Amino acid sequence: MLKRKLVLIMSNIRFMIPCEEANHVCDKTQYKNASLKEKILLNLHLIFCRACRKYSSNNAKLTKTIKKAEVECLDKKCKEAMREDFNQALKEVSN
Ligand SMILES: [Zn+2]
Repeated sequence: MLKRKLVLIMSNIRFMIPCEEANHVCDKTQYKNASLKEKILLNLHLIFCRACRKYSSNNAKLTKTIKKAEVECLDKKCKEAMREDFNQALKEVSN
C-alpha cells in the first residue's frame, strides 16, 4: 500500500519513467550507451518495479554470459567469401 502511494507520488513529480523506457535504458546500459541521468532514472524505477528489476537482472546475466563465452565472429570479407562459395555450390547443384 505504502509502496503504491510512493509510486504515485514519484510518477506525479515525473521521477518515474514507464517500464518500456526503463527496459530501453537498461539495454543501453548494457552497451554503455546510457547517460548519467538515464541511469539515475532507471535505478529509481528499479526501486519500485519488480518486473523491471527481473528484466535488468536477466539482461546483466546475459551480458556476463556472452562476455565469458568470448565468442569470435567472422569478419565481413570472410562471410562474403562463404556466401559466394555457397551460392556457387547452389548453382552447381541446381544445374
Ligand atoms: Zn517497470
